Amino acid sequence: MDFNWRPDQLELRQAVIDFARRSLQDDLGGRDHRAEFSRELWQRCAEFGIQGLPFPESLGGGGQDPLSAVLAMEALGYACRDNGLLFGLAAQMWSVQMPIHRFGTAEQQQKYLPRLCSGEWIGAHGMSEPDSGSDAFSLRTRAERRGDHYILNGSKTFVSEAPVADLFVVFGTIDPAQGALGLTGFLVERDTPGLRVGRQIEKMGLKTSPMGEVVFEDCAVPVANRLGREGRAVSIFNDSMEWERGCILASTLGTMQRLLESSVAYARERRQFGRPIGEFQSVANRLVDMKVRLEAARGVLYRAAWAKQHGHPSAGADAAVAKLFVSEALVRTGLDAVQVRGGYGFTTEYEVERDLRDAVGSTLYSGTSDIQRNLIARSLGL
Ligand SMILES: Cc1cc2nc3c(=O)[nH]c(=O)nc-3n(C[C@H](O)[C@H](O)[C@H](O)COP(=O)(O)OP(=O)(O)OC[C@H]3O[C@@H](n4cnc5c(N)ncnc54)[C@H](O)[C@@H]3O)c2cc1C
Repeated sequence: MDFNWRPDQLELRQAVIDFARRSLQDDLGGRDHRAEFSRELWQRCAEFGIQGLPFPESLGGGGQDPLSAVLAMEALGYACRDNGLLFGLAAQMWSVQMPIHRFGTAEQQQKYLPRLCSGEWIGAHGMSEPDSGSDAFSLRTRAERRGDHYILNGSKTFVSEAPVADLFVVFGTIDPAQGALGLTGFLVERDTPGLRVGRQIEKMGLKTSPMGEVVFEDCAVPVANRLGREGRAVSIFNDSMEWERGCILASTLGTMQRLLESSVAYARERRQFGRPIGEFQSVANRLVDMKVRLEAARGVLYRAAWAKQHGHPSAGADAAVAKLFVSEALVRTGLDAVQVRGGYGFTTEYEVERDLRDAVGSTLYSGTSDIQRNLIARSLGL
C-alpha cells in the first residue's frame, strides 16, 4: 500500500474543498432544527461530480478509483459541515450505485446510474425491517414470482433518504424456509403501484438526511428489475456492505480533522487562570488524543478502501475494522470537541453538539459496533 497520493488525487481533494466552501454553506443550523433535506445542495454536489465519483464515465460517473473517491469524500467532510447531506451521498454511492454497478444488468446500469450520478434521481437502500435489524437475513418481505413480475409484500424501516428517494434497492425472500438462499434483490422505482413511503422517522442526529419507512402492498416489480439472480442476494448484500463499511465513513475523517483544528484554535484562544486552556496538560492531551485517533482512523479506512479496490482477501475484515474503529473514534472526538469548549460546547451556537449527535448514528448503521466485532472475531477463527 502506497501512502503517497498522486498529484491528480491531491488536485481533486483541493477542488472538492474549494467547491464545498463555495457552494455548500447555508443555514445548516436552521435546516438541522427543522430536519430539512436540501435537494438544491444535493443537485450542486451532483453537478460537481460527487455522486458519480467512482463510476465509469460511460455511465455518467467521474471514472475515479474508489480510493480517490474516498479522498474526495474526506475533503467534502472537511469543508462541508452538513453531515446528514454527506451521509446521504455516501449511502447512495456505496449501497445503491455500487451494487447496481457490480451486479446490475447492462440495461439496469444504463437506466439508473446516469440518473443517480446526475442528481436527477436519489437512491435508497432498504434492508432493515421492524423485526430484522442486525439479523438482517431473517427479513420477512415476501417476493412471489407471478409471470414476468415479482409481487412484493412487507415493509422496510430506517431507510435513509426514503422520503425523497426515486429508486429503492430492496431485498426480499422468495421463500422464508430457504433462509439466506431465498434472498433476492430488486430495484423498485418510487412510482411503482403498491409501493408506499410511510412516515418520516425523527432522530437525534443526521437530521438533514431524512429517514423513512417503505411499505410494499402487492407491489408488482418487473422481473427485469431483479438485481442479480433469484436467491443470490446474500453475495450482493455482503459485497455492498463491505463497500459501505469500508468507505461510508470517509467524510467523517474530514469531520474529525475539522473538529481537531477548531478545538486547537479554541484552546489557544480561551483563557482561564490567566493563560490559554491549551497550556493545561489535560486539555492538550485531549487534543493529542483527537489527533492520534484521526491518524489511526485514516490508516484503517484507507486500508479498507484499498483492500476492496484490489479484491484483497482481507477486504471483509478490513471493512469491519474500519467501520468499528472510525465510528467509535468519531463519537469520542465529538465528545472531546464538546469538552474542550466547556459549557459553550453544549450550546448550539458552537455547533459541535450537532457533530456529536450526528456521530452517534455511525456506530449503528451498516451494522452496529457489536456486529462489526462479531465479524472481526469470525475473521480470527473464533
Ligand atoms: C442513521 C441510521 C441510518 C440507517 N440507514 C439505513 C438504511 O438506509 N437502510 C437500512 O436498511 N437500514 C438502515 N439503518 C438501520 C441499521 O442498519 C440498523 O439499525 C442496524 O442494523 C441495527 O438493527 P436494529 O436497529 O434493529 O437493532 P437490533 O438488531 O435489534 O440490535 C439491538 C442491540 O442488540 C445488539 N445485537 C443484536 N444482535 C447481536 C449479536 N448477534 N451480537 C451482539 N450484539 C447484538 C446490537 O448491537 C444493538 O446494540 C440505519 C440506522 C441508522 C441509525
